[in-house]
Amino acid sequence: MLKNDLLETWDRENFFHPSTHLADFARGDAPQRVVTGGSGSYIEDREGNRLLDAFAGLYCVNVGYGRSEIADAIAAQAKELAYYHAYVGHGTEASITLAKMVLDRAPAHMSKVYFGLSGSDANETNIKLVWYYNNILGRPEKKKIISRWRGYHGSGLMTGSLTGLELFHKKFDLPLAQVIHTTAPYYYRRENLAQSEAEFVAQCVADLDALIAREGADTIAAMIGEPVLGTGGIVPPPAGYWEAIQAVLEKHDILLIADEVVTGFGRTGSMMGSTHYGIEPDIITIAKGLTSAYAPLSGSIISGKVWTVLEQGTDENGPIGHGWTYSAHPIGAAAGVANLKLIDEMGLVANAGETGAYFRAAMTEALGDHGNIGEIRGEGMLCALEFVADREARRFFDPSDKVGYRLAAALLEQGVIGRAMPQGDILGFAPPLSLSREEADIIVAATAKAAQSVLG
Ligand code: PLP
Repeated sequence: MLKNDLLETWDRENFFHPSTHLADFARGDAPQRVVTGGSGSYIEDREGNRLLDAFAGLYCVNVGYGRSEIADAIAAQAKELAYYHAYVGHGTEASITLAKMVLDRAPAHMSKVYFGLSGSDANETNIKLVWYYNNILGRPEKKKIISRWRGYHGSGLMTGSLTGLELFHKKFDLPLAQVIHTTAPYYYRRENLAQSEAEFVAQCVADLDALIAREGADTIAAMIGEPVLGTGGIVPPPAGYWEAIQAVLEKHDILLIADEVVTGFGRTGSMMGSTHYGIEPDIITIAKGLTSAYAPLSGSIISGKVWTVLEQGTDENGPIGHGWTYSAHPIGAAAGVANLKLIDEMGLVANAGETGAYFRAAMTEALGDHGNIGEIRGEGMLCALEFVADREARRFFDPSDKVGYRLAAALLEQGVIGRAMPQGDILGFAPPLSLSREEADIIVAATAKAAQSVLG
């Protein structure tokens, strides 16, 4: 299929790749892969390698690769009507149907869905709506946004600020002043090793309370958080965390945005992460799993409480001054409708829970006693292995040893793609929700070999 012999050269010479060491790549010192195909849990590249993608792209190809049901729906939509905008009341059968399907799967108190293109732009929308909301309610000072260290919410100006990872701030003059960060709900990395999980949750609550007291509740509009910390390390919340945090937010009239870009549509083993953890958000961010990345599409699901104020705002000020050319793009919407149907037909939410649990149990059986593994954790079809220099003392490796990256590279040599998470020596897995037990076994065996080759 690929006949251009110059492709690799053109790549090095012309293509600005995201999240890449630009100088190394241009020099030819960083790896390059031209991906040519995919089927189920596997991708293929130009060199003829067939790799088990245990991270589903960027935890997004939830139904797996090569599903013709979605490809056919995209082709049919492109032929019938590739594009029309959604401004001033325009829609397509696909976008209207998808809005209904999303609301049917969201918590009952959610009311409307706005469609964007990426998780980042959906979160930009969310913050604008929260600011608008408080202006309409006559509290223009209530604007700051609380995020968590190690949260990931995108890499735009506001969303890169919300993201609580150093790499996304350094040299970009971020975070913006309106963003304040609080403690990551990451029990394994707690400062006080003597703390029980319940004591650690109390600490997270006390830290949040102190932050709100310091800044003033009347200056804080919302808190944003992923139900399960994703890029920050794949960390499920400690028991009771969300319940306790929500009580604090309610007390101070601070909205909650649940960023379900990773957890939405099945990854936790429940349709939505909010339902899984008993979270009652005011706004929910969705993307990745909405179309399984067959086309770019994201969304902001708005609760009835916020929607009422948005309506009041347009009564007072005219049409909402927000929209993208590609909002609710018909091709993305057609992909979304076909994808959500396929998730139901293939029983993928249940499979994420059941095969995901099998996968983590098999990983624990194979590697749970390894002296360099501090923790194996996850939820649904999410799993992370945290590597440490000394398990008993919980001593971390020196970051300059790049243990996580070396493990991911060793895993790749075994034909399996995992992800070295960006902060810490954490090997992350988020396979397609369609993963089989046999494929889970292959990932576990390859991980054991990779750990053996890097750490002994
Ligand atoms: N929110 C979360 C929880 C994410 O994991 C991501 C991406 O990984 C985003 C937002 C940003 O999405 P995008 O990369 O589509 O802008």
